[in-house]
Amino acid sequence: MRRPLVAGNWKMHGSTAENAVLIEQLINGIDGRREGAEVVVCPPFVYLPEVVRRLKGTPVRVGAQNVSAEPGGAFTGEASAAMLKDVGCEYVIVGHSERRAHYREDDAVIARKFRAVLGQGLVPILCVGETLDEREAGSTEAVVGRQLEAVLSLAGVASFARAVVAYEPVWAIGTGKNASPDQAQAVHRFIRDRIATGDGKIAGDLRIVYGGSVKAGNAAELFAQPDVDGGLVGGASLKGDEFLEICAAAG
Ligand code: PEP
Repeated sequence: MRRPLVAGNWKMHGSTAENAVLIEQLINGIDGRREGAEVVVCPPFVYLPEVVRRLKGTPVRVGAQNVSAEPGGAFTGEASAAMLKDVGCEYVIVGHSERRAHYREDDAVIARKFRAVLGQGLVPILCVGETLDEREAGSTEAVVGRQLEAVLSLAGVASFARAVVAYEPVWAIGTGKNASPDQAQAVHRFIRDRIATGDGKIAGDLRIVYGGSVKAGNAAELFAQPDVDGGLVGGASLKGDEFLEICAAAG
């Protein structure tokens, strides 16, 4: 039985004061039942220690939005997986499409980041997904398959026992246009089948979450799909009430 997961990606939004208000809303509204969804928030790097401190003792976990592939050294502006662990992170988003597109992160560096996160005992949330052009060209499975393959060949299928995969069609991120439940389910099934070719048990236990314009109004139908185990939520995770509704829809 896979426990659903809902992660809020705050992207480059927030301030100390705004975060305090949002966290207060989450703490007051969260359903902490163990059988409910696991809830994670991913603030910008600079706010991580503060958010960890505010959420200490609550059921809400904290993740980072990015990580260096390197363990340490002369890498100005970067933060290592060990540093993220040190400040209390438990999850790390790896390979978000905004990192792939704006910062030219390729499959190889993303695979190294994935391995660095696992090396510190943290949970990577590996983002995969196709652009609109790729979908229209009929290459969704080829693209997602290639993105998975890079990680599988570096880290091995066993590494997916401690990972989460987020299917995030690029055309659905921040656009207000979500994948239909059927479209999401088809790609989630493809991802699970691909992992199953390496290990059926790991594939069956793997949480595959959907991201791309998840809102309170569409979460329940997306999460009702058999291979959709929750969501990675951008814009709607900044609104406390809506994020709580999405978490409730996950379980
Ligand atoms: C995201 O940032 O991962 C995301 C899915 O954003 P949004 O929910 O705003 O589409």
